[in-house]
Formats: sequence, structure tokens, C-alpha cells
Amino acid sequence: MKFKTHGLVIYEKPAGETDRYVSILTKDRGVIHAFVRGAYNLKNPKSAATRLLCYSDFIVYESKDSFTVDSAESKEMFIALRKDIVKTALAQYFCQLCYELCSDNAYAGSYLRTVLNSLYMLCKGDKELSLIKAVFELRMLALSGYMPDLKCCKICGKFEDEEMRFAPDEGCLYCEDCLDNMNNYGIKTGLGATAAMRHAIYADDKKIFAFNLSGKSLEIFANAAESYTVRKTEKRLPTLDFYKTLSTP
Ligand SMILES: [Zn+2]
Repeated sequence: MKFKTHGLVIYEKPAGETDRYVSILTKDRGVIHAFVRGAYNLKNPKSAATRLLCYSDFIVYESKDSFTVDSAESKEMFIALRKDIVKTALAQYFCQLCYELCSDNAYAGSYLRTVLNSLYMLCKGDKELSLIKAVFELRMLALSGYMPDLKCCKICGKFEDEEMRFAPDEGCLYCEDCLDNMNNYGIKTGLGATAAMRHAIYADDKKIFAFNLSGKSLEIFANAAESYTVRKTEKRLPTLDFYKTLSTP
């Protein structure tokens, strides 16, 4: 049986001498894992459109126990980010986080929109990479059932506090008054980073990047999002470490 779909290639590896094995994040079927026969023959039209980070239209043949890409035509190859090694490393981390968080055989429209949006932002180049990364991480976790509760202080319900703290283990906020004797608990997010975190998880899909943050607040926002991601996925992804070796001065 054949079906049409479109999606982003989030993983690729060689399968034998001439074939490629790919994982594709699709809107309707979540992540599908498929073989691309003859992918290493460069004259094969499927070759380019089934590389990592290609957003393509696919016709997929489904047999009893596997999928095979019958044809593929690229819609977007994100050329602008491929020219930059740091952006490419970050995009690879995005792919690996998708692989970790997205399920097979489940609707994944919101995940796909989020990752495509984030890749377009990397190409565009008018936002800090650390901001794009933090928004992507929080949004993906929220979609995966790890929605942090950032409405107010968990104990007293206060909305804002200069000394607001985010607890990555619990995924919630505490104000200064309630953390009286626990001043080293969590990450001090203050006003700027707290607002950014709220925006990343509560804003409409189309507006997730419609804000700015810089300096210390951006650093805190990035740190809080990454800490929460590492806690919730219970691992440090190798692509995250690789990106950090390139991006840390
Ligand atoms: Zn409180």
C-alpha cells in the first residue's frame, strides 16, 4: 500500500552500501522510519530530498513490517543554515530532540510546525541562537506532556516577583517570600526570563518567536530551558554537547 505524506527528515544513516535509512517527522503519522533504496546514487532523484534536515513531499510504500520511500521531492532544504556550522549543529540537536519526544503513529502537526518554524528562524538570522533554542526546547516539552506550570508562584499564587525562581525538577515557579529559607533552590529567573518562558509555552504557534530578550535575561532564559530539557528527557543528547562545544566561547 502506498500513501502520500510530507515531513522533515530528522535522522539518517546508511543501510548497506547503497541504501539509506531515515526517520521522518510527518504531520499525520508522527515519526516514520523508512528505507530509501539506492539513495547513495547521486543521480537518484530521491537522494537529495531524503537527507537530514530536508522538508519534502514523499510517497511511501508500506509493507507488512517496513516502510520504503517510493519517491521524494524536496520543498525546503534550509540552505541558509547549512552554510553555518554552529546553526547546523543546533538544527541537528533540534532533530534529535524531535526524535526523542515525538511518537510513531500519532498526529504530530504541532511538533512539525514548531521545528519548521525554528529552522526558518535559524535561516533568517535575526534572533539569537540561544533564544531560538530555548523557545524550541520549552515548546517541544510542553507539547510532549511536560508542560511546566508557569502561571504563578506554586505556593501563594503571586504572578510576578523580581526574585521569581524556576524549579526545573518540578517545572514550576516560586516567589521570593515563599522560598524564605531556600535561596539556592531552582534558577532565579526574575521578570525578563520568567516572561520569556511564559511566552514560549503559552503563545500561539505563529507567535512563539515574537519577542526579544538580551543580555543576562537571555542567558538565564536559555539556562532554565536547557536545564528543564535535560531533567525531563533524563539525558544529555550528544548533539547538544556538540553544539555547546561550538557555541561556547
Ligand atoms: Zn509565593
